[in-house]
Amino acid sequence: MIAVVGSCNVDFVVPVAALPGPGETVLGRDHLRAPGGKGANQAVAAARLGSEVAFVGRVGDDALAETTRTALTGAGVRLDWLGTAAAPSGIALITVADGGENTIAVSPGANDHLTPDAVADAAELLSAAAVTLVQLEIPLETVHATVRAAGGTVLLNPAPARELPADLLAEVDVLIPNRSELGVLAGAPEPTTVEEAAALARSLTGPGAVVVTLGADGALVVADGDHTHVPAEPVDAIDTTGAGDAFCGALADALARGTALVDAVRWAVKVAGISTTGRGAQGGMPLRADVS
Ligand code: ADP
Repeated sequence: MIAVVGSCNVDFVVPVAALPGPGETVLGRDHLRAPGGKGANQAVAAARLGSEVAFVGRVGDDALAETTRTALTGAGVRLDWLGTAAAPSGIALITVADGGENTIAVSPGANDHLTPDAVADAAELLSAAAVTLVQLEIPLETVHATVRAAGGTVLLNPAPARELPADLLAEVDVLIPNRSELGVLAGAPEPTTVEEAAALARSLTGPGAVVVTLGADGALVVADGDHTHVPAEPVDAIDTTGAGDAFCGALADALARGTALVDAVRWAVKVAGISTTGRGAQGGMPLRADVS
């Protein structure tokens, strides 16, 4: 079993020719309303790959909650630990320009009500789960409670970026930042080369291993004083929203099946690459049978 403790949002995506500047209004094309949130995206990614997944999270007491529930149920995610908060559902307002550049404003809403009490309620699940996967779109004290309660392998995707205390990082088995998150964690500029990323990842003490996602360049595994670069296969990327989430979900899927870390990263690079060929954060997540 994989336990995902994290956020669920509804994304409102407006395609525009060019991003609006401050104070500017631009007319876009038809909007897409899609389930999202890093936690829900990662849970869906792992479940579509055939893993058993349970989601610990909070929806709001509004109609948008149904969008989240339907998406998670549709992927086969267990919702026994998904509660309803007395708050609006989390949303993300996204504009995507024709070149693929985007702006995102997130209102966490119900996600901010996922307190350490919710983790305590899921204590049995978390102690038994082979893999627990958590991100930073929920209160930091809840992240702390999660890594402490987890009995299996702990994966932390430190997104959105922020500095993290050493005692939290020390509880993490595999830290999965992208380049800019790695820069923020290491207190350094964003690395531009694989060598720079490896040096920064090595400077982070605490996590058992660091896996840095590198967009079209694939990913980098830093563990046991060694680093391995796993390049991405070329794909016709049309929407990279959620690529990092597909990566994290796939990594959890492989590790829960007992795959060794570097091979698990090869799998995650393949799955994340495929996810960029479909639209929407969850829309592009492949089924296991779609991944060769
Ligand atoms: P995030 O979406 O969190 O910024 P990345 O951009 O690093 O994360 O992407 C996560 C993973 O998705 C990468 O490690 C890679 O495997 C895959 N990926 C992203 N963009 C591409 C691309 N253009 N071509 C192939 N794979 C990609």
